[in-house]
Formats: sequence, structure tokens, C-alpha cells
Amino acid sequence: MSAEATRPRGTRAARTRAPRVGFVSLGCPKALVDSERILTKLRSEGYQVSPSYESADLVVVNTCGFIDAAVDESLDAIGEALEHNGRVIVTGCLGARPERILERHPQVLKVTGPQRYEEVVSAVHAHLPPAHDPFVDLVPPQGVRLTPRHYAYLKISEGCNNRCSFCVIPSMRGRLASRPIGEVLREAERLAAAGVKELLVISQDTSAYGADLRYAGGEWRGGEWQTRFIDLARALGSLGVWVRLHYVYPYPHVDQVIPLMAERRVLPYLDIPFQHGSPAVLKRMRRPAHAENTLARIAHWRAQCPDLTLRSTFIVGFPGETEAEFEELLAWLEEAQLDRVGCFKYSPVEGAAANALARHVPPAVQEERYARFMERAAAISARRLRRRVGRTLRVLVDAVADGAASARSEADAPEIDGMVRIADAGRVRVGEFADVEIVGSSAYDLVAECLSSRDSSRATS
Ligand code: SF4
Repeated sequence: MSAEATRPRGTRAARTRAPRVGFVSLGCPKALVDSERILTKLRSEGYQVSPSYESADLVVVNTCGFIDAAVDESLDAIGEALEHNGRVIVTGCLGARPERILERHPQVLKVTGPQRYEEVVSAVHAHLPPAHDPFVDLVPPQGVRLTPRHYAYLKISEGCNNRCSFCVIPSMRGRLASRPIGEVLREAERLAAAGVKELLVISQDTSAYGADLRYAGGEWRGGEWQTRFIDLARALGSLGVWVRLHYVYPYPHVDQVIPLMAERRVLPYLDIPFQHGSPAVLKRMRRPAHAENTLARIAHWRAQCPDLTLRSTFIVGFPGETEAEFEELLAWLEEAQLDRVGCFKYSPVEGAAANALARHVPPAVQEERYARFMERAAAISARRLRRRVGRTLRVLVDAVADGAASARSEADAPEIDGMVRIADAGRVRVGEFADVEIVGSSAYDLVAECLSSRDSSRATS
């Protein structure tokens, strides 16, 4: 979900009957879910969501503070909202550092930190009291969502117990706080009943789900489930929708989910932020599971589930990264043969422990390593996609325009992965599954011809 999709446009005008709130949502899917929760609460109280600055009575900006570029984008977004509307409440990760915001934008009405839903809503009440109208107070049972109708993010926990040296999220979002399993499953059930066909499980550390609750039991559909990664995967796998797991770390207990993937109970897709292939760099990064032999684990998973898609992100030019360690990363990547790969050049974040590490890598070297890494990753991606040509795949259609469609297979998460382009989209419809034959491939995308389309609640053949 991009910020643009939720950013109001234009200038402010007179207030309409129901109070209207504009919303700018920046950052990762976890921030997006925070935005959805705030909007759900406001809608349930009779507020309307304004598509433009012009018609909004005030604007809430949900910021990101992950890296310096995100901080700049957030500060610019606040400035834009102030310029076009003038009444702005700020929340989200950057809100954990209010001095950064107030220094540049002292006129904002209120600054709150991440996950401070109540504070945001109270600030809206203070500056724009709710209207009491029983008809506009109605809100759909699945809540207000910013994603298309056919997919939804399912946030299972907040915070993180890890202490990666390049990251300040734990200091912003706090320690791991899992949602009880019954609550998560009931939300998933409501989403599926409302027509959602793909659930994307998100958190900071999905494999750690429930550790803070000591894997407490919960009731759902008459059965007992534990607040635990594998129980969550099993239960979601019974809903008959696509279930995609993000932000999983390669701990040994993750092996348990692979048979569910082989049976297509959950999608054979794992998003694992490996970040590097050199054990020495991973240790300096203080990454969870850095001592695991991940290459052996990947080989083991693929032996059980050959269609498994692996997505990951990496950081190049981390402080102290030598040419030999970078070469180790390239060799690791070549052996791992990951399907989907994103890469960042390391940049210091205010307050992160890695800032104090010795031997920061010069920008020109970072740039050169980034280019080499992406060239290697693109070649692997192209090779792996070519192997899909000639196969029949089930895809979920995201958009149709001018007779063509963009869709995603089980190997493609929305927004971050490639897509399947269908040239003859006459028979397919947005939000429906279609069966296609793959007829071509590029570095990141597939080209397909349509075999059939169906509006099916079943996600598998
Ligand atoms: S796992 Fe590491 S990078 Fe991810 S949120 Fe936790 S500390 Fe940050």
C-alpha cells in the first residue's frame, strides 16, 4: 500500500454535516494496520474519511521512522498536510521522537507515538468532536480497510524482543506483545466472511508469536488452540483462503509449517529477512537465528516442498563489511537461489547501536556492492521464473485495465513482489481467482494467457 493511495488531495473547505478526517498512511504494512484500526474506530464513531485535503476538517498523518529517508518523507507529508489543510495530528513511529517533528512543524495539533490508538482518537475528539448519528455510526464487521477488498493484512503482534543493531523499532514499538489466538482467528474469520481471499500475516517477528503469552490457550470454533506460530498457521489454513506468512525467522520450529505448505493449507511462501549471508556480519547485526545453518535449512524445506517461494531482504555495506564478507554474501545468495530479493544500502538510524561500530563502508563502495548484488539477484530471479513457463497457475486478479490484467500467483505478495500479466483479460475480474498458462517471463514478472476465471471462495484447485 503506498502512501499516495490514502493521501488526501487538494485544499481544505468548509465542514460538511459529519466530521471528516483525512488520513495519510506511510510506512510498512504494520503501520497500515495501525491506520486501519484508527480509521475503524473513527468510522464507528460517525466520522467520515475524506479523500481530499479540501473536504477534510483535519488530517491524521501516520508516519514512518525506520530509516532517514522515511523520516524525511514523513516530515514532508506533515508539511504537505499543513499547507493544504492546516489542522494536523501526527502518529506512528516518528511520533516516538516528537522533537524531530516539532522542530520543523511546531504548529501540529498533537503528536502521539506508534500504537497509541486511544491517544490519536482522543486528539481527534478534542479538535473535531464526533457527531452523534446512529446511522453514520455503523461500521462493517470487518472494520475499515485500506487494502483492496480481496486481500487484507492480519497483524498478530506488536513490538519485538530482538535487538538488531541497525534497528530502533523495539525502542519505538516496545517488547513483543502478541494478540491472543482466539482474537486473531475471529478477525481472520470476519475478513474471510467479508470476501477477503488472501490474508497476509504480519508482525515484527512472526515466528516468535505467542512467546510473551507463554503460548496461552484460546478457543475458536469449539476447539482449543495455542497462541503459537504453528497453531496459527494450522487454524488459518482451515479458512479456505490464501494465507501468506511474512517476517518469519529461520528457527528450527519453522520447519513444522513446511508440510502445511506442501499440502497447500497455507501458501508455499516464506518471507524471511535474512539480511546477510556472512555469519560474522550477521553477528555484528545481532540478527535472530544468526547461528542457524540457513542454507541447510532452505535445502531441507525445498526437499519437502519444491514449489516453496522464498522472499528476503538484505543490507549491503553494513559497518565493517569487508570485500570477503560481501563475496560470502554473493556465494550464499547463489547457493540459496532465493526467488524474491530486496536490498538496502546500510544507512545509520538515530539511536541504533550499529552507529558505534567501526569501519563504516564509504557510499561509493556501498553503491558498487548494491549494483553487484542486485545484478546477481535479478539473474537468479529470471532463471527461476523461466522455469514456470508452460505451467498452469492459479492467480488472484488485482487490476484490470484496457483489456489487460495484473494478477498474482501464490509466489507473489502484493506491493513487494512481481506479478503475472494477462494480456487477454476479457474473462477475468478484479478480486477473483483465474487459471492461467504461463507463456513468458522477464527478470521479475510472468506473462500469461487466461484459461478460465471463477469467482471461487476456494483458493486452491
Ligand atoms: S527483528 Fe530486528 S530488525 Fe526486525 S523489528 Fe526486531 S529488532 Fe528490528
